[in-house]
Amino acid sequence: MPEEEPERLISEDGLRLDGRKPDEMRPLKIKAGVLKRADGSAYVELGANRIVAAVYGPRELHPRHKQKPDRAVVRFRYNMAPFSVDERKRPGPDRRSIEISKLSKEALEPAIFTEYYPRTAIDIFVEVLQADAGTRCAGITAASVALADAGIEMRDLVAACAAGKVDGHIVLDPMYYEDGYGEADVPLAMMPKEGEITLLQMDGDMTPEEFKKAVKLAKKGCKIVYKEQRRALKRKYGEE
Ligand code: UDP
Repeated sequence: MPEEEPERLISEDGLRLDGRKPDEMRPLKIKAGVLKRADGSAYVELGANRIVAAVYGPRELHPRHKQKPDRAVVRFRYNMAPFSVDERKRPGPDRRSIEISKLSKEALEPAIFTEYYPRTAIDIFVEVLQADAGTRCAGITAASVALADAGIEMRDLVAACAAGKVDGHIVLDPMYYEDGYGEADVPLAMMPKEGEITLLQMDGDMTPEEFKKAVKLAKKGCKIVYKEQRRALKRKYGEE
């Protein structure tokens, strides 16, 4: 939780603490292929978030009894650096990072043609270097670009973005203060081409109408993210 609670999160003229309009996303930058030793990688800046994703594989899975004869096993590790947050985060997995790893894997797996890579493992690592809320979404966004950069066959990219409720307003892409002092947070991931949602969570309180509005807004955010993901890949592979 941020140390000092701001008096209000939305000003009288409807602007947020960082000057954004309710339906505005933070500045987003994506770069594909940033790590030499990974098969695929990506770097994402979303506002003050700084996140790296690395993909290794498809590679032989050991021990062999963990292999699946008909598909690849997807593994995902989300990790926050101790220096990524205000109050030093104890290194190593905790309940939160284990949960985020699981739901991120489940958000990405439907997009991967795992059946093309039997007996292998696809390992995805997300390292949060600086966190400012929305890291699970930015991590999924980065991981998806890293998977494509690794040449892994996918149905579509997975784009992720959150919406939230702040001072009674539904807002796109909440930052730290809004996440900490807002009323609710709705992270969403989807494959934009078909519109299939692969992650939808809600933390906090919202009416069904507000929830619908938040989902709609988060989907709009995903479309913006998707465009940037594709641009990053095109930049690396010389089409832009
Ligand atoms: N956070 C923190 N310390 C922690 C975990 C989280 O300061 O140990 C901050 C961090 O900025 C994170 C935010 O709280 O981005 C919101 O965390 P949440 O669990 O809602 O996940 P996120 O929004 O990052 O997906």
